[in-house]
Amino acid sequence: MKLSRYFLPVLKDISSDAKIKSHQLMLRIGMIRQSSAGIYSWLPLGYKILKKIEKVVREEQDKSGAIEMLMPTIQSSDIWRESGRYESYGEEMLRFKDRQDRELLYGPTNEELITQLFRDNIKSYKSLPLMLYHIQWKFRDEIRPRFGIMRCREFLMKDTYSFDLSKEDAQKSYFRMMLCYLKTFQKLELKAIPTKAETGPIGGDLSHEFIILADTGESEIFLDKNILNFDPSNLKYSENSFLEISNHYSKYYSATTEMHDKDKFEKITTKKSQMIKKGIEVGHIFYFGQKYSKPLNAIVNSKDGKNVNVYMGSYGIGVSRLVGAVIEAKYNNNIMKWPKSITPFHVAIINLGKKNDSISKKAFKLYDELLKNNFEVIIDDTENNPSNKFKNFDLIGIPFQIIVGSKNKDEEFEFKELGKDTKVVKIKELINILEKEYKIVK
Ligand code: ATP
Ligand code: MG
Repeated sequence: MKLSRYFLPVLKDISSDAKIKSHQLMLRIGMIRQSSAGIYSWLPLGYKILKKIEKVVREEQDKSGAIEMLMPTIQSSDIWRESGRYESYGEEMLRFKDRQDRELLYGPTNEELITQLFRDNIKSYKSLPLMLYHIQWKFRDEIRPRFGIMRCREFLMKDTYSFDLSKEDAQKSYFRMMLCYLKTFQKLELKAIPTKAETGPIGGDLSHEFIILADTGESEIFLDKNILNFDPSNLKYSENSFLEISNHYSKYYSATTEMHDKDKFEKITTKKSQMIKKGIEVGHIFYFGQKYSKPLNAIVNSKDGKNVNVYMGSYGIGVSRLVGAVIEAKYNNNIMKWPKSITPFHVAIINLGKKNDSISKKAFKLYDELLKNNFEVIIDDTENNPSNKFKNFDLIGIPFQIIVGSKNKDEEFEFKELGKDTKVVKIKELINILEKEYKIVK
């Protein structure tokens, strides 16, 4: 991509409404623009990152055994009346009518719709266990949208639903998804802490929020430091792993303000291991048993011929909120560095030459070579002054930069990983480094 042909409207001044660094950065480097309160357009750079996060989330869902589908954004009020949530969901639900006067709503979540699909299509225990997910836009008419895409009204969510024949099986699905979430956040280079949570309007009796520590977070979290020492990367999806996870996260304390029990906290943690931090909720998982399968009559035939209301759970990740959460976690001292798994481009070429001079020609030759080798490359071919170019690319956050100026010999380039020292490399070495970093196989 040539920067001169891209749509990347960088701002010098941003609105004072942008209070936190992710909101400020996303506006400054042209990732998003607000179209009305709490509703945003995703410009090319922001959309590229959003799509990459979605891809990581999807890959990990698929590995866990969940199956992707797509439900609509617009739902009928009928099934919400059946579950009893049409009235109880409150003002956050956007309700409207079509020309036939039918009551519709913009889905804030999908428990009802998925339960209806299950009820109408699955009758036997032989189809269980089943996990279905989709990645779809949601609308919640938040009373106070704020912090950009962190708390907005229209947002992208991945939601998974599990169906099992018994409570025991459903709890295994719950921990399967918990492991999947731990792996997903690890891929995004985030440390997300599962924290016991209230079940809210979704209901049920087992629930964890996944919280990322960040000073600008809206949740306060009380925890035992030891809870952070858990590495899910080598765990397979097995009952042993589920047990290991369950043991670890029930052994060490973590709670948000709503669930915090001061006496218990003092009792089971030491002064040295106590932490009180701010955090961002990036995911939330629920086991709610038969809460929806009973009113909506989602029944399967068990092996011994009995009718059983299916046991369910639901599991959400705020895909669009994660874009902001990653920035909150990774953006410091005017340098943003995207995790390699979601960087918008693999590498940036900062061309310090003028149009068609020998430096520019050298930069474009490198650009072509990198494209040929399957890298996603952006080249700054604008007439901006060098210090502006450097400043912008530190904010855009592509982890690797190649600076093409007059300093180096013809076949040599200045190469730098953001936040580290520059080194001089030849093109072969450059390609090798990038291939290793991104594990690109030809
Ligand atoms: P919160 O407590 O932040 O309002 P919630 O508990 O209402 O969120 P869930 O129903 O658990 O949200 O939704 C699953 C995930 O969707 C959340 O963990 C969060 O990451 C994301 N999410 C929820 N509401 C919003 C919003 N208004 N804007 C952006 N993302 C959101
Ligand atoms: Mg929640």
